[in-house]
Amino acid sequence: MFAYPDIDPKLLTIAENKEKELSAVFQSVEDISEANQYKVLSSFIKNRVCEADFNSGSGYGYNEVGREKLEQVYADIFHTEDALVRPQIICGTHALYLALSAITLPGDEILFMTGSPYDSLEQSIGITDSPNSLKEHGITHKIIPMLNGCDFDFDAIRNAISEHTKVAYIQRSKGYVNRPSISCDQIRDVVSFVKQIRDNIIVFVDNCYGEFVEAIEPTDVGCDICVGSLIKNPGGGLAPMGGYIVGRKDLIERCAYRLTAPGLGKEIGGSLGSLKSFYQGLSLAPKVVGEAVKNAHFLAAMYENFGYYASPASHETHHCIVEAVDLNDPEKVIAFCRAIQHASFVDSYVTPEPYDMPGYQDKVIMASGAFMNGSSLELSADGPIREPYTVYFQGGLSYEHGKYAILRSLQAILT
Ligand SMILES: *Cc1c(COP(=O)(O)O)cnc(C)c1O
Repeated sequence: MFAYPDIDPKLLTIAENKEKELSAVFQSVEDISEANQYKVLSSFIKNRVCEADFNSGSGYGYNEVGREKLEQVYADIFHTEDALVRPQIICGTHALYLALSAITLPGDEILFMTGSPYDSLEQSIGITDSPNSLKEHGITHKIIPMLNGCDFDFDAIRNAISEHTKVAYIQRSKGYVNRPSISCDQIRDVVSFVKQIRDNIIVFVDNCYGEFVEAIEPTDVGCDICVGSLIKNPGGGLAPMGGYIVGRKDLIERCAYRLTAPGLGKEIGGSLGSLKSFYQGLSLAPKVVGEAVKNAHFLAAMYENFGYYASPASHETHHCIVEAVDLNDPEKVIAFCRAIQHASFVDSYVTPEPYDMPGYQDKVIMASGAFMNGSSLELSADGPIREPYTVYFQGGLSYEHGKYAILRSLQAILT
């Protein structure tokens, strides 16, 4: 086995044993990557992707063939009627706000079925008052916490649905809440439950961190619209910005009318040189996501070995790329994030500090030495400085890089 000169040999022996124990788990992760690689490749072939598709226009960006084809490729991968995939969608929060504001009207209500949504949406929705929040525009919401932190509360969902309920919202990944991520099987059950109550309720999925972790997507189990960020999974580490929305044609049209203007919609919006990285990142995404999932399993196995609680557990099936570890000590959260930063390709010499961030109650420390600013499919870690002092780890474009960083973190925690 290759010995890193700066890692304690005892730790390397443990790592070797853990990798052996995880071999069946790794094999099933690779099987999923293989199925997704075939799905993505097939849609490229079906749509006859060619070199000219990487060109982008200027001005209005009319008739940008490569942009239109990329959206068809996304629609085929997600098995939806249509897709909107744009560099003008800046990030996940923007994509989610765009989609929610496009499909709701004053008087409508959004039902959050997986507890409080991701922190960065609080102002968008109006949980915290804000100019242009959905609340300010007359769109109300109800939040249904998950039962025991992991199951849909079907009774509460039934009781909460009224004639105003327009959107039933699912956040697949855990965000900054230490609950399990949601599987597509669970999504299938809740979609059919909601549709039985009223079939014109729009089931909406925040798919951030979930793409290509399973062999199917939420749109394969009945959800109407699904949203994510290209500097996470589907960008494959190469997309420099962007977001996607896939789903029913009428809903995608509303999103496009909101992104540009009514009547213009998808027809405009030059891609400004980003198309090649979107295509190539997507072509690599199944493999890269598999590497990130293997890193998550390895992190859990290594920390479990030293008595820490990791979620999901090392042998559990993962439904997103995020791994959470309770370190029970603020100093260890800081040491963990610093070690991840110091093992990054970019900004390795930087020492992160906990700081106050807008929208968060407690100080947060973040490690991100990424080629794309803020990309969290690349190796990254963060943790709010609050009990039980949990760190959230995600990414690593290659398993080997993630493994080394994880060993560095453990060495820092143990000494
Ligand atoms: C990252 C994330 C978001 C927000 O995405 P940004 O790109 O950071 O704006 C929303 N929901 C979930 C579950 C996420 O993981």
